[in-house]
Amino acid sequence: MLSIQNLHASIDGKEILRGINLDIKPGEVHAIMGPNGAGKSTLASVLAGREDYEITEGSVTFQGKDLLDLAPEERAGEGLFLSFQYPVEIPGLSTTNFIKTAVNEVRKYRGQEALDAVSFLKLMKEKMALMNMDQVLLSRSLNEGFSGGEKKRNEIFQMAMLEPKLAILDETDSGLDIDAIRIVANGVNKLRSNDNAVLAITHYQRLLDYIIPDFVHVLYKGRIVKSGTKELAYELEEKGYDFIKNEINIEE
Ligand code: ADP
Ligand code: MG
Ligand code: MG
Repeated sequence: MLSIQNLHASIDGKEILRGINLDIKPGEVHAIMGPNGAGKSTLASVLAGREDYEITEGSVTFQGKDLLDLAPEERAGEGLFLSFQYPVEIPGLSTTNFIKTAVNEVRKYRGQEALDAVSFLKLMKEKMALMNMDQVLLSRSLNEGFSGGEKKRNEIFQMAMLEPKLAILDETDSGLDIDAIRIVANGVNKLRSNDNAVLAITHYQRLLDYIIPDFVHVLYKGRIVKSGTKELAYELEEKGYDFIKNEINIEE
């Protein structure tokens, strides 16, 4: 589904990603952990197609296409979803209308007709029930005055509506209380299937108590320096990131 090969990326001439290799197959959940400043959010941003980054080397293939060649909205059309993609607050734009636009843009990209009002409502109801989504939230302006947990819930609801092939969750866990983490995790778990995949990026192990990963990778100074199963996450939590430094021979 996703294949990242020797990916190097810089910002303002400073190399942040220094040769990332990662393969994600349908049905898999991968977690990327790493200390602050390792390049986790940079990786998520590069995959989402944010513009500040310069790709200096390497390639990314998503479902057989050159991902780096696609504009951000084309990536969404291909089935990529990045959490925190839409953290903007837009007064006057109802959350429902925002989601409708997003859904119909993806459909248009895929050569499908826009959903009519009745079909859209039906889809909304189905996903609202699945995600325990609050009707009131959907009628409010997009993210305006939403609490951290409400923003998360809204975002996960958007994800449910878009039914992505690959969801990338860049959890800047800080600020998310345990209830918000559960909301994210429950939503993600309900959407898991054999033909979609999740990349959960997290600083802390606790998210992974709720979203059980098949593979855990440690990102350190712009490279994946160690990969394992969920046990690796517990080891990191217990020993801290310094143990990675000691265990492996890292070129500075
Ligand atoms: P993480 O998410 O793992 O904490 P980031 O990807 O946010 O790490 O950051 C990796 C490195 O890139 C850090 O040293 C950070 O200071 C630097 N960096 C990130 N964004 C920018 C930017 N817009 N301008 C300059 N440096 C940046
Ligand atoms: Mg950080
Ligand atoms: Mg980050």
